[in-house]
Amino acid sequence: MVGQTFLSDQVKVLSENQKIMNKGEINYDLILGCIHCGLCLNNCPTYIELGLEMDSPRGRIYLMRALSENRINPSESLFRHIDLCLECRACETACPSGVKYARLIEETREILEPQKKYGSFKKFLKSLVYEKIIPSQKRLLALFWFLWFYKKFGIQWIVRKLKILKLISKRLYEAEILLPDIPRPSKRKLIRELMKPTRKRRYRVGFFKGCIMEFMFIDINIATVNVLLKNGCEVITPENQVCCGALHIHGAKTNIAKELAKKNIETFEKLNLDAIVANTAGCSVVLKEYPELLKDEIDYYVRAEIFSSKVKDISEFLYEIQINDKFSEVSMRVAYHDSCHLAHGQGIIKEPRELLKMIPGLELIEISESDLCCGSAGIYNIIHPEMAKRLLKRKMDNIHSTGAEAVVCGNTGCIIQLLKGAQNNLKVFHTVELIDMAYKNNKI
Ligand code: SF4
Ligand code: SF4
Repeated sequence: MVGQTFLSDQVKVLSENQKIMNKGEINYDLILGCIHCGLCLNNCPTYIELGLEMDSPRGRIYLMRALSENRINPSESLFRHIDLCLECRACETACPSGVKYARLIEETREILEPQKKYGSFKKFLKSLVYEKIIPSQKRLLALFWFLWFYKKFGIQWIVRKLKILKLISKRLYEAEILLPDIPRPSKRKLIRELMKPTRKRRYRVGFFKGCIMEFMFIDINIATVNVLLKNGCEVITPENQVCCGALHIHGAKTNIAKELAKKNIETFEKLNLDAIVANTAGCSVVLKEYPELLKDEIDYYVRAEIFSSKVKDISEFLYEIQINDKFSEVSMRVAYHDSCHLAHGQGIIKEPRELLKMIPGLELIEISESDLCCGSAGIYNIIHPEMAKRLLKRKMDNIHSTGAEAVVCGNTGCIIQLLKGAQNNLKVFHTVELIDMAYKNNKI
């Protein structure tokens, strides 16, 4: 009798586990990797700010487990705790068990997404941005021409004065506030598809230009290409490359991210490249993880492995090739901010610092909590403006207190966020801009 009960319990456990496995959504083994030690807690921005277990990595993993085991149902409170995570990966850096937290949160968001109730305007906006605009170069170009006109010809002034966007959508209003100056979109043509170095070629490099970087910060892209050329790289910037898919992965739109990944692989694999260089950490981390994204795609997995093995963040690449150090002086006191997707996502911490230290006259200042998220996190600062503002204030206090003249980092989202928080003429640079500046006036 006891044996029978034991057996039926085992069958029950097995069928429960089967139910979990059949869901095939959150990787249960990864959840079990968490040993609840709590070492990640004080590295988590939302836990630091709120002090709530359910807004910590460990607490969120508890929730994921409870969801997987059907002990809790999706609810507004669950959505809130899961959505408030910035996906900054600071917990991965801190975790002694090697928990792949980013993968867990992405899988959790993917299964929760269909259960959320969005208003029709929000639904329309989400589908417009994720499905129609970001995946299409032509539509992105049209959008940025519109934004350029919007800023250049005073439309922005009227919209802000009358607070028009606030009447339509709070999120749209928050997004508009973040809009930096938009360069004329035609400036992107300064980067031609093939650019050759004046001296002997050392490497043949593909440049991943980044969909937002290309339009909002084309000067950073130009600086990147200049620096690569000055280091003997032949630079190929394929016109038909597309968004890396980062925003789609964070926004639980993995199927679109997969299609974008396939298109990028097809575009770059034909080019016989030594490396594929990206200057936005949020892009390079995703490009490096294409094999994980495409692990179930038989025609693409191996190609994704080859593609990703060539991907380098610009600071990583320049550090590895032993950059030409014929620099002129750049006299500036500069604070360095570790972008999450560079420091936590790729472990790139020393490379940008070492490159900056090579520039004569440049004083590199370390800030407190350098690797704590600034609150940007893709479109997090639009979706969760309150938490984003708290984290930005914390970051800016740490930067301003050093008396630095500029802050430097390696990610588009951080640059947008830091520009919003910068006071007292604090300038914001990408690492590669300072390197380019140091090459100017110096014939090499
Ligand atoms: S990814 Fe960042 S915000 Fe999310 S749980 Fe980890 S440390 Fe916290
Ligand atoms: S550090 Fe890792 S193992 Fe420890 S609680 Fe956090 S996620 Fe779990």
